[in-house]
Amino acid sequence: MAELRYNPISREWVMIASHRQSRPQMPKDWCPFCPGSGKVPDEGFSVLRYANDFPALSQSPPEPDDVASGPLFETRPAYGRCDVLLYSDEHTATLAGLSNEHVHKVAGLWRECYESMAADPGIRYVFLFENRGEAVGVTMPHPHGQAYGYSFIPKKIEAELLGAASYSREHGGQCLYCALLGEERRDGRRIIFENEYFTVYVPFFSPITYGAYVAARRHVPHVAAMTDAELRALGETIRDCAGMYDALFDMPFPYMMCMYNAPTGGADGAADEVVGGSVGANVGDAHHFHVKFFPPLRGADRQQFFASSETGAGAWCNPNCPEDKAEELRRAYRKFIAK
Ligand SMILES: [Zn+2]
Ligand SMILES: [Zn+2]
Repeated sequence: MAELRYNPISREWVMIASHRQSRPQMPKDWCPFCPGSGKVPDEGFSVLRYANDFPALSQSPPEPDDVASGPLFETRPAYGRCDVLLYSDEHTATLAGLSNEHVHKVAGLWRECYESMAADPGIRYVFLFENRGEAVGVTMPHPHGQAYGYSFIPKKIEAELLGAASYSREHGGQCLYCALLGEERRDGRRIIFENEYFTVYVPFFSPITYGAYVAARRHVPHVAAMTDAELRALGETIRDCAGMYDALFDMPFPYMMCMYNAPTGGADGAADEVVGGSVGANVGDAHHFHVKFFPPLRGADRQQFFASSETGAGAWCNPNCPEDKAEELRRAYRKFIAK
């Protein structure tokens, strides 16, 4: 079963993908992403976009099951797309260990994937992300990220789009993200590192320990609008963040890395129609590309739990001071680049 079910209380779509449970147990030493598996080119590759074998969303979704027995039980086909983005054909490679030339190709894959999903009018939002480590449920160590193309704007993203659009309307068209980045750079205490095109910092309001933000220095809505120099710098910056985290406790550090691009309908106003009605601003234009890292650990062997207050109420409690953790991450970054 793969379908969307509507929650009228929180006004959001939920993906039901019970067919994913029937994924076969992989033989122990077999990896579908390694050349020779029959699933990827035998001659090898540097980076590869691979259609997910058990997608939660598809461009030819099955009809929803006949369970919508009342007006409050609304279903929709699970339209969309799920891709796996292979960073390398080498099973034991890590993002942190890839050359500049190689991470430029990874960044090219992000752009290619965004553009191809955005070309589908049925896809409203393209979410590029990476789950890394067993702590966030990854069973396949082969280095890879993922992309989901949703037929709806996810709720959390909608709230942030509206926040930025409201700020822009109240401040003569100014971008909230540009303003925040300006304030963070002026203050300086939470800046971890930066280059000509991106600034990496722990935000003033960081809800979690070691949660780094990567902000584009220029007001750019999505990866497809970046210059080639910006895109190359994005690959290097994300690689350096991964290296920084690995250097923090001298161990492969698990994380969730999430990229926030403007909704794909931004240019023609389709996103406004979906989320912008109440603010009347162009939410696509108010958006500013950024990346967030959510590490599940707050120490080498200490997990940070997203527990009742966070999960049930959406009220976050960070047990650590963002300024202190920015200092630790700065040291880890220096250690990584000194290697
Ligand atoms: Zn592999
Ligand atoms: Zn901006």
